[in-house]
Amino acid sequence: ALAAPVLLADGDLFVPASIGVAVLGKEVDVATLVGNADAAMYRAKQLGGNRCEIFQQASRPSTSSRLSIHREMHRALERDEFCVEYQPLVSLNTGKVTGAEALVRWRHPERGLLAPRDFLPIAESSGLIVPIGERVLNLACRQARRWQSEVNTYDPLRVHINLSPLQFLQPDLADIIAQALETTGAAPELVALEITESAIMEDTDATLNALLELKHLGVGLVIDDFGTGYSSLTHLKTFPVDELKVDQSFVAGLCSSDKDGAIVNAVIALAHSLGLSVVAEGVESAEQHQRLQDLHCDVGQGYYFGRPGAARDVVPLAG
Ligand code: C2E
Ligand code: CA
Ligand code: CA
Repeated sequence: ALAAPVLLADGDLFVPASIGVAVLGKEVDVATLVGNADAAMYRAKQLGGNRCEIFQQASRPSTSSRLSIHREMHRALERDEFCVEYQPLVSLNTGKVTGAEALVRWRHPERGLLAPRDFLPIAESSGLIVPIGERVLNLACRQARRWQSEVNTYDPLRVHINLSPLQFLQPDLADIIAQALETTGAAPELVALEITESAIMEDTDATLNALLELKHLGVGLVIDDFGTGYSSLTHLKTFPVDELKVDQSFVAGLCSSDKDGAIVNAVIALAHSLGLSVVAEGVESAEQHQRLQDLHCDVGQGYYFGRPGAARDVVPLAG
């Protein structure tokens, strides 16, 4: 029944469904039952979606470990275990720090500091990325506010915040961001939102409206991982973005592969001709730094300038 297309005036709409099934056993409580069904649904999605999977505890250890991470993440939100590290963004013109990207970490009570790859995929597929993302948003805005007041001898630092595609689909996203700006007192021009290409390159008016609403708040908009999704030049022209972030895979090959060099060069030229500024991420060597300067890239980010770390480590570099 679900596979049948929905008939609309301008064509058929296919809505795939991923279904997880769990069977109620004797000693199973409601929370576990729903959790098991949820885990089976991840499995269905993992296998490509548009299918139905039945939960099987014994045969699927990876599912149960996903499940336990999922449960732990709920608790971690309550216990406030998510925190943020900041990685400096450096002007390639002046060599000064212009801001920092907020990168989420999970201070796990037993496993130590976890990086996004250890929990973000599950947070994304379970929807927990929405409350986690809100936590990050508030922490990062509070930090922007602190930099505003502390760093009065330098140009104020701008904080970059990652938005997951799921957050981007929230109808009240602009309100959530406006609220975070208001409660923290962060100036909108000191906050930039990073959105991946694939999240915004969906051809819908809704995307454009969402971006316009965010733009209206006064925050900066950055396309992250540029070059890895399916970029449409039309959208680049229409969407109110300020900055492109060249994906680190191209920067990695900048000095060793002619093709990567050509791509980085082309992205910078394209961005500049559209009036956008360009950040290169994943800069690890002096050679890459030099090459990016030669190509007139605006901003660099990477281990060469500084690893993600405490907010207080970002400030002294600004002088
Ligand atoms: P991203 O947005 O592309 O962030 C850059 C990633 O590259 C970070 O990994 C950073 O630590 C790493 N990196 C920075 N410089 C270098 C370098 O010179 N060399 C190499 N090899 N790597 C470098 P991290 O912190 O593990 O984050 C991974 C991804 O997780 C991020 O990729 C972003 O997509 C996502 N993420 C991080 N924080 C958040 C968040 O608060 N919300 C959402 N939705 N996603 C987040
Ligand atoms: Ca990013
Ligand atoms: Ca990126």
